[in-house]
Amino acid sequence: MKFCTNCKRTVRPTKKPWSWLEFFVFLGIFYPIYRISLPTDRCVICGGKTLISRKKAVSEGLLEA
Ligand SMILES: [Zn+2]
Repeated sequence: MKFCTNCKRTVRPTKKPWSWLEFFVFLGIFYPIYRISLPTDRCVICGGKTLISRKKAVSEGLLEA
């Protein structure tokens, strides 16, 4: 679990949303393979990359220990 500074809550990290535009750019076949290589570093709620570790959130007073 990570802490999202945007949503101000603990969230499960996820990949960026599926993009049909990128799907067609990657000619369909290669896009799922490309997605497998993506890092899981997105907030599941807002889709942003504003995630920090829970430890850091606690140290900055954003989250109760
Ligand atoms: Zn968020």
